[in-house]
This record gives sequence, structure tokens and C-alpha cells, in this order.
Amino acid sequence: MAARQHSLICRGCWEQMHLPVLLRGVASAPYRAFGIRPSRMNPNTCTICELMFTKVMRARKITIDATIMFADLRGYTSLSQSQSPDAVSGLLDAFYDECAGAIWEHDGLLNKTIGDAVMAIFNFPLRRDEHPRNAVLAARDLQKNWRARREALVTAHGLTASELGIGIGIHCGELSFGEFGHSHRDLTAIGTVVNTASRAQSVAEADQILVTKAVFDRAQPDLKNCVSKPFQLKGFEAPVELYAA
Ligand SMILES: [Zn+2]
Repeated sequence: MAARQHSLICRGCWEQMHLPVLLRGVASAPYRAFGIRPSRMNPNTCTICELMFTKVMRARKITIDATIMFADLRGYTSLSQSQSPDAVSGLLDAFYDECAGAIWEHDGLLNKTIGDAVMAIFNFPLRRDEHPRNAVLAARDLQKNWRARREALVTAHGLTASELGIGIGIHCGELSFGEFGHSHRDLTAIGTVVNTASRAQSVAEADQILVTKAVFDRAQPDLKNCVSKPFQLKGFEAPVELYAA
């Protein structure tokens, strides 16, 4: 696939300190010698940014307004029983690759891969007022790029297209960001916003994007003509209104 165009300097260092930290090209060699390189969670930011945030988090968790997106590869579990391990890991690599491309293109952080799902955070560490909209645009890009790519994957592995769709859920609001867990400390977000996004993803059909009312309200006019319907989500007493984006 075509190489993606990444930023030459770290966007985080530039936006927050006006420091041009070179990430790529011949001139980045001195930075690399000091261990400063592109972050694996967002290659447009650097390992210094990562470290700085980790240190801040260690002191205390912070509450931020952010958008959470979950994307899940449908049919993966049944595929993993009928396909060779090589074919399965190839599919998953292709999926992660497309997720990363779409998330980074819209300044999000690919925070976690959980089996056949990914979790992305928008508005951290790159701050963007329009983060709910960025998440929606990333989700739409992901669906579009995946539809284009899966034809080849489907043909190569003798599958049907419906077996390889992506279900996406998005929610936004205040959440806790920090290092959680005891044995394995993990830099991530927790809270109701995260759970709701995850539940929305679990009821999304293949090729579908479901967003909450909070996202619908804040991502206008991009979601102007979207229709909603109530869903009974696991762990929620009242039905939750979700919009197909
Ligand atoms: Zn940086």
C-alpha cells in the first residue's frame, strides 16, 4: 500500500512549546541519537510528548473532554477458526493499518488494540476543539478505505464481503485519562464515556457507524441528515438513542 505522509516535525511539541522537533528525514538523526522518535500511538507526535504525558499522569489522573471511538472487525472470530493463522494475522494487520491511517489523519491517538477491536482517543495529546467531528470523519474514512481494500482480501481468502465489515461506535464527554492497572500499568482512558462508546460499537452492524446524541450535537453540520433509534445497551437501564453516521 502507499506510504502515508506523516508530519516532519512533532505536532505536539510545536503546538505546546513552539519547538520544531524533527521526526523524519536526514536532519532528524541527532534527535534519534537521543532516543526522540515518532510515537507509536500517533507518529505525528514524539516519544518526548509521550514521556511528558506519562509523567503528568503519574502524579495524578486528569479529566479531559475527549471523544472515544471503538472499531471492531466483524466476523473475525469465525474466520480465525476456518482460516490459516497466517491469513488471519494478515487480515488483522490490514485492519489495524487502516484504523491507524484514518485515526492519525484526523489527529487522534490509537490508544489500544484489543483482539479484533481498536480504541482511539481524540483531543489528546493533540488538542482539537472539533474532536467529535474529527472522530466521525476518521470513522467515515476508515469505512470507505476498508470497503476499497477488502475486495482484494475477500478474493484472496475465499470469503464473502459481509464477513469482513467494520462496526464503529463513538461517544464524547468528560473522561479520566491516566495510568490504570496494577500489574500492567496502562496509559488510557476510563469511565462512562468509554463504556458507552464500546457498547455503541457492539450494537453497530458491519459497515455501520453509530454515534451518541452528544456526538450528533457537536459534529454538526456533518451529521445533519442522520436518523436515530433507541438501543437497549448492556449495563444501561434506559434505552440509548444512537444515530447512524
Ligand atoms: Zn513532541
